Amino acid sequence: MLSTMQDVPLTVTRILNHGMTIHGKSQVTTWTGEPEPHRRTFAEIGRRASQLAHALRDELGVDGDQRVATLMWNNAEHVEAYLAIPSMGAVLHTLNLRLPAEQLVWIVNHADDKVVLVNGSLLPLLAPLLPHLPSVEHVVVSGPGDRSVLEGITPRVHEYEELIDGRSTAFDWPELDERQAAAMCYTSGTTGDPKGIVYSHRSIYLHSMQVNMAESMGLTDRDTTLVVVPQFHVNAWGLPHATFMTGVNMLMPDRFLQPAPLADMIERERPSHAAAVPTIWQGLLAEVTAKPRDLSSMASVTIGGAACPPSLMEAYDKLGVRLCHAWGMTETSPLGTMSNPPAGLTAEQEWPYRITQGRFPAGVEARLTGPGGEHLPWDGESAGELEVRGPWIAAAYYGGADGAELRPEDKFSEDGWLKTGDVGVISAEGYLTLTDRAKDVIKSGGEWISSVDLENAIMAHPDVAEAAVVAVPDDKWGERPLATVVLKEGATADYRALRTFLAQSVAKWQLPERWTIVPAVPKTSVGKFDKKVIRKQYADGELD
Ligand code: ADP
Repeated sequence: MLSTMQDVPLTVTRILNHGMTIHGKSQVTTWTGEPEPHRRTFAEIGRRASQLAHALRDELGVDGDQRVATLMWNNAEHVEAYLAIPSMGAVLHTLNLRLPAEQLVWIVNHADDKVVLVNGSLLPLLAPLLPHLPSVEHVVVSGPGDRSVLEGITPRVHEYEELIDGRSTAFDWPELDERQAAAMCYTSGTTGDPKGIVYSHRSIYLHSMQVNMAESMGLTDRDTTLVVVPQFHVNAWGLPHATFMTGVNMLMPDRFLQPAPLADMIERERPSHAAAVPTIWQGLLAEVTAKPRDLSSMASVTIGGAACPPSLMEAYDKLGVRLCHAWGMTETSPLGTMSNPPAGLTAEQEWPYRITQGRFPAGVEARLTGPGGEHLPWDGESAGELEVRGPWIAAAYYGGADGAELRPEDKFSEDGWLKTGDVGVISAEGYLTLTDRAKDVIKSGGEWISSVDLENAIMAHPDVAEAAVVAVPDDKWGERPLATVVLKEGATADYRALRTFLAQSVAKWQLPERWTIVPAVPKTSVGKFDKKVIRKQYADGELD
């Protein structure tokens, strides 16, 4: 028997219409580096999204599910693109502005992008690529930046404000199939070519609802979220869509992502929430230690994308800022877990839950798979590869313009689960603790050493700012850990002191023999430790 319920498609258009009417007074504030930030209400954003859709369709000829790319910082215009492009039936393609040029070219060609919306400050990055991007017919520029680098370039160039100016502020949005493509994002391609994930309207809608649930970020129109996580990094973890559902004000840092302007922004605009990878919070901590600012408005911070060292959580607890650990991937939209502890515990009892990656929400089913393909119990001890499935989790990668889909065996199980490549344990209560990425585990003499455990233990030393541990080849043991350490400014600890400190919390056979003190840990395009680069530097003899 079928239900008697209405079959209303779950679309981005509905999120847009809801946000601009019910939460029309909520605001997107964009940091400009000027004395006053720029402010725009959700109602204005909605009207301008209509104008943008008119311009894209009527002036630039965007039709059907053509791809419109963005090469932009986090700002109000980027939010307009987030809402307008999917709602008109086209596909928003966010480009990671920190990727190497060859990868960007590969990605734009693979996605067959027709238009690129770009911030003026990023034109020096885009201009040299354009001759290699035959599918791009139009470039639309917004915000400050020298336009002269575009002189003599083939695609037609438009000014965003001039392009939308005077167009109707209402758009007759088409009724879309909720399973249709709304947005796409490529993984950074650390191994092989980048892989494209295509989100549907339905997956975005359901993911946004989960982001908003109290057991996840739980934000309302009383909140302001500082969206540091880039809009090109898994849709800024879903925040621009989720906030339009509940009227959460957004504070957008634009290109001012350094610790000093972030600290100023927080002190002045007093956001109640923020989201970013651990590197950002490490940098901000060093900044406010050197020059104190009031961060206490940020009651909660969502931290993820890489393991959050417990020492970082403790340091922020002291500033009145609670870091909440989350795990996810580009393939999971990204919300996979969040580490809110169960109810009724004291702060001390909450701690063991807070330092896990968190528990799975109702929309994410999880299982652990052992080396022989067997499914392991949730006992907090049996370690295996995490596999997940759910309505906002990828079933395949985008295979190209012919509509093909890619399902590599190492990424999808035969029965359709996503193989995450992350190794960990799950407790009986459903809390996930990741010990490593499968490719980062250190296999020493038949035993596994968790690089994350070593990193956390080293980062607990008061002299250490950052530590990344990688496996390096070893004649006797197969692999051994190499610790690369960044010391805090003025700190003097040496290898021996760090090793003695580490020996207090780690088994002797796991202690690294190889240490190197470096000025900075190499980072990936989204600010995570780039272990591939560290391994290569070691192999090339650049690290001792
Ligand atoms: P990339 O592969 O370029 O890093 P993603 O942003 O999709 O792209 O990365 C997803 C991966 O990041 C996960 O598979 C996991 O290894 C890691 N990760 C994400 N969140 C956490 C976390 N809270 N703790 C540990 N690792 C995490």
